[in-house]
Amino acid sequence: MSQVVTRFAPSPTGALHVGGARTALFAWAFARGHGGRFLLRLEDTDRARSSAKSTLGLLKDLEWLGIDWDEGPRADADDPYAAEGQAGANGPYFQSQRLPLYREHVDRLLASGRAYEDDGAVRFRMGEDVSFEDAVYGRVDVQGSELEDFVILKSDGFPTYHLAVVVDDALMEVTHVLRGQEHLTNTPKHVALQDALGFARPVYAHMPSILIRDGSKMSKRDKAKVARKAAQDAGLTSVEGVDDPAFAAFLAKESDDVAVAQRIASALDLELPEIEVADFLRSGYLSETLCNYLSLLGWSPGDDAERFDRAFLVEHFDLERIGRSNAKFDRDKLFRFDADDLAAMPAEAFRDRWRAHCELFEPAYVERLDDDAFTKLAAAYQPRSRTLQEPCRLARFFLLDDDDIVYDAKAVKKWLAKNDGQGFGVLRALRDRLAGLDDFSPEAIEASLASYAEAEGLGMGKVAQPLRVAVSGAAVSPGIGDTLALLGQDAVLARVDRCLAVTQPA
Ligand code: GLU
Repeated sequence: MSQVVTRFAPSPTGALHVGGARTALFAWAFARGHGGRFLLRLEDTDRARSSAKSTLGLLKDLEWLGIDWDEGPRADADDPYAAEGQAGANGPYFQSQRLPLYREHVDRLLASGRAYEDDGAVRFRMGEDVSFEDAVYGRVDVQGSELEDFVILKSDGFPTYHLAVVVDDALMEVTHVLRGQEHLTNTPKHVALQDALGFARPVYAHMPSILIRDGSKMSKRDKAKVARKAAQDAGLTSVEGVDDPAFAAFLAKESDDVAVAQRIASALDLELPEIEVADFLRSGYLSETLCNYLSLLGWSPGDDAERFDRAFLVEHFDLERIGRSNAKFDRDKLFRFDADDLAAMPAEAFRDRWRAHCELFEPAYVERLDDDAFTKLAAAYQPRSRTLQEPCRLARFFLLDDDDIVYDAKAVKKWLAKNDGQGFGVLRALRDRLAGLDDFSPEAIEASLASYAEAEGLGMGKVAQPLRVAVSGAAVSPGIGDTLALLGQDAVLARVDRCLAVTQPA
């Protein structure tokens, strides 16, 4: 058999979402596992909806996922549209740059009578019954009478998807087409075109759909659904940055505009569900963990194996074990995978990954913390981090100016004001002790707090929690010795003073 060639052929009309990423991952793994080639082709024949922004986003997202390609626009190119920005002997890899090739094949079909002109467009003549074997869904038979003639060349000279995909898969010598189940109904057209053009048929394998909890197909509409429900529950009647008619249309389900959903989310301090690959990156998921999880959507290696890396996927991925039933996207499971992987990571790796995440999304951490502080903070937060974004949220108080700490009212009440202000008394006593420490290491701090607790007959919680509230605003932080040492003596004293001044009743 000839060398295996697979391809990922996204339309650059939006961001890469989870379904596309899974298709790319499987096509990539199949080629890699068979010593074959993997191509990336941009199907940008929809001129109105295709954009360079989305092309560049796709390249970046694939790169982040660790999916590399042998032919196609280069991820590191200044201009992936330019000839020198593309690699491979079968290019160009943008369909918009291949118009003469499509024209040539349309002319062949016109000459043989299998196509005809119609209102400036060209249509392909169907007629015969079509059968093919899908590697996942089995044999598909379609009667000729059920198939209508369809447009292959639009009046603007651009091919339709059907023609372009068939011509390109043939010219690029693609042997296996892996793609989403939604294309299964297109395949009879493609097979008919292949037969009419004398092309060999590739093996087709359609991937089952990915559904969310409510049984609907996972799509960016889910963001709108979540935002709409939250807006309704909160009785929101308008939102900043969105004009009233647009807001009303969104609430009335007349629009699913993601921008409106995002405005609502920030107004209500709400997290929208991740749908696109870039959402998962921003939320702090590890790319290898996401790939592992995506691999399980419609495929399994057997023996209940669930946790594995890309190399394992490459070695074990096959078409036989792709299921036909819809796959459920289980966010909690992905979250657990990520938590486990972060916990199992060597401390240095965690630090480096977290720093890389901060460089992208939380530059303040990189600017404000030196290497030593970064390493210590990473060590302190690794055990409580289930994504790379979590430590950013949890450790925010380290970066704030002492005067910017916001005190959580519940925490103040519970740990400071209760029992006639017992916690305030603890803070006052500790302030002087901490000021007197020459050694402000975690160990020295812990020892000092422990001796105070013992002398006063207090549990460590009654000592540490008031301090946490004073230095962070809330009652959650890593070990109290680490927390205070990382902040440094001056900041701790300044924060305790301010807390006493601001939160104590007069
Ligand atoms: N451009 C098509 C899509 O993004 C590709 C389908 C295929 O792989 O043939 O859905």
